[in-house]
Amino acid sequence: MGNGTGGSKGPILVVGGGIGGLAAALSLSRSGQDVVVLEKAAQFVEIGAGLQLAPNATRILASLGLMEAIREVGVFPNRLRLKTALTDENLTSLDLGEGFIQRYGAPYVVMHRNDLLRILLEGCQAQPSVELLPGKEIKEVENDADGVIATCADGSTYRGRALIGADGLWSTVRKRLSDDAPVCSGYVSYRGTVPTERTTAHAPLDEVVAWIGPGLHYVQYPLRSGNLYNQVAVFRSDQYLQGKEDWGNSEELEEKFSVTCEHIRTAMPLLGRDHRWPMYDREPIGRWTDGNITLLGDAAHPMLQYLAQGACQAIEDANAIGVAFDRESGNIGKALNVYEQARTLRTARVQRNARLWGDMWHIDGAGRLMRDELFSRRDVDDHSHIEWLYGKRDPLAASD
Ligand SMILES: Cc1cc2nc3c(=O)[nH]c(=O)nc-3n(C[C@H](O)[C@H](O)[C@H](O)COP(=O)(O)OP(=O)(O)OC[C@H]3O[C@@H](n4cnc5c(N)ncnc54)[C@H](O)[C@@H]3O)c2cc1C
Repeated sequence: MGNGTGGSKGPILVVGGGIGGLAAALSLSRSGQDVVVLEKAAQFVEIGAGLQLAPNATRILASLGLMEAIREVGVFPNRLRLKTALTDENLTSLDLGEGFIQRYGAPYVVMHRNDLLRILLEGCQAQPSVELLPGKEIKEVENDADGVIATCADGSTYRGRALIGADGLWSTVRKRLSDDAPVCSGYVSYRGTVPTERTTAHAPLDEVVAWIGPGLHYVQYPLRSGNLYNQVAVFRSDQYLQGKEDWGNSEELEEKFSVTCEHIRTAMPLLGRDHRWPMYDREPIGRWTDGNITLLGDAAHPMLQYLAQGACQAIEDANAIGVAFDRESGNIGKALNVYEQARTLRTARVQRNARLWGDMWHIDGAGRLMRDELFSRRDVDDHSHIEWLYGKRDPLAASD
C-alpha cells in the first residue's frame, strides 16, 4: 500500500499535476486539507509556449498569494487587438490598462506556461500539507467504503477520502463518468517562442494581437518580461478531411499561410515547427462526480482555445473546490455536489462559446464581411461580450 491513512482522515488525491491539478492542490491546502498529487510524468513540466490569463483567473492567482512571483516573469499587456490575417487591417481592440484592471479587480497577464507551472509548484512545495509524487500514472480509481483508492501503473495504490481527476483531455478518471471521446476540430496549432531581439516581425510589444482569417489565425505576444516572443499559427486542415494520417503537417501550414499578409509571412520562418497540436474539445457533460471522485480542468471540460480560457477555467475550478471544501468541511459528498453544481453550467457555456468564437474568427464569404463590419464598429469601451466571463462572481454560484 502506498501513502494515505484511509477513511475520512485520508488525504484528497489529485490525479494530474498540470496547471489545474497544482492549482487545486494549493487551493485545497489553503482550505486546511491534506493533498497528495499523483503525476504520471517524471517531472512537473508543461510543454508548449505562452498562456493568456484573464482577470477571472488572475484574481484567483492573486488570492493564492502568487501575484508577486507572476509579476517577476509575466507581461501585463496594454491591449488585445484583432486584425485581419489577409490584409493586416485593424478590426477592434480591448484596452487592458488601469480602467480594465479597476473594472475586473485584476490584470490580464501573458506568461510562459512553464513559468506558471513552476510558480504553482513552488506554492505547493511551500505547503507542508501537499505531497507531490511524480512518476505515478494512475490506471484505475475506485470508490470504496473508506473513500477512494487509486491504483498506479507500477502497482502501488493510494487511499484518500476524495479524488480529483485533473488528468487532462485524455483523462483516465473521466472514463468512470462518461464513455465519450475527444472531438477533433480538424484544426491544428503550431506554437513556439523566440528571443524577442531575433523576431523578424512583431506587433507592438505591449499588445496581444490575433490576425484572423478564413480557416486560420495567427497570434503574437511577448513573454518572460518581454525577453521572449510567443507565436501561434492555427489552421483548418484539408488533409484531415481527406483522412490523411499526417494531416496538418508543416507543408500544409506553409501553403495555408501563403495567402496571409506580409507581417505574418515575415514572422513565420521563426515559428516553432517541431511539434504540432491537433485541436480537440469534448461535448459538455452534466455530471462530473461519482461517489467521492470528481473531475477538474481539461478532464472535466476541455475546450478549443479561442477564448484563451482552458487554464483560466481550470483555475476557477481549483478555487471553487477549495471554497467548497472550506464551507462544507466534514461532508465530502456535499462539498463535491456544491462544486459540481457551481461549475458544470458555467464551463459548458465557455466550451460552447469557444467553439462559436472560433467559427467567427475563421468564417469566410459574406459572413466574414459582416463580422469585419461589426467588429470595426464596436465601441472599444464596450465590455458587454466579456462581462460574463471576466466579471467578479461567487465561486460557488450554482449557475452563471
Ligand atoms: C494551442 C493552445 C493554446 C492555449 N492557450 C490558452 C490560453 O491562452 N489561456 C488558457 O487559459 N488556456 C489555454 N489553453 C488551454 C490550456 O492549455 C489547458 O486548458 C490547461 O493546460 C489544462 O490544464 P489541466 O491541468 O486541466 O490539464 P493538463 O495540462 O493536460 O494536465 C494534465 C496532467 O495530468 C497528467 N496525467 C494525465 N494522465 C494521467 C494519469 N493517468 N495519471 C497521472 N497523471 C496523469 C499529465 O501528465 C498532465 O501533467 C490552450 C490550449 C492550447 C492547445
